[in-house]
Amino acid sequence: MALTITEECINCDVCEPQCPNTAIYMGEEIYEINPSLCTECVGHFDEPQCIVFCPVECIEVHPEHQESQETLLKKFQKLAGLTEA
Ligand code: SF4
Ligand code: SF4
Repeated sequence: MALTITEECINCDVCEPQCPNTAIYMGEEIYEINPSLCTECVGHFDEPQCIVFCPVECIEVHPEHQESQETLLKKFQKLAGLTEA
């Protein structure tokens, strides 16, 4: 699953440096997550770091990007350059 940031985000800047995949960026009004880069931290950490650090709990599963653990692991391997495709 990729995660998404809801409008409750207070732009506190805490999550962005915690993301191992640089998937979090400042959008037009609040921080946003690039679903192509978010592995839900699979391959890096046991828990999604943005959720762990967000003080207002405004990060949730993206309804249109629900992926299995296997898919997330493959995404991580691709992003890390461990596989060809
Ligand atoms: Fe980044 Fe992990 Fe949060 Fe996805 S779950 S946005 S990879 S910190
Ligand atoms: Fe927004 Fe939470 Fe990230 Fe802070 S940690 S910028 S409130 S999503």
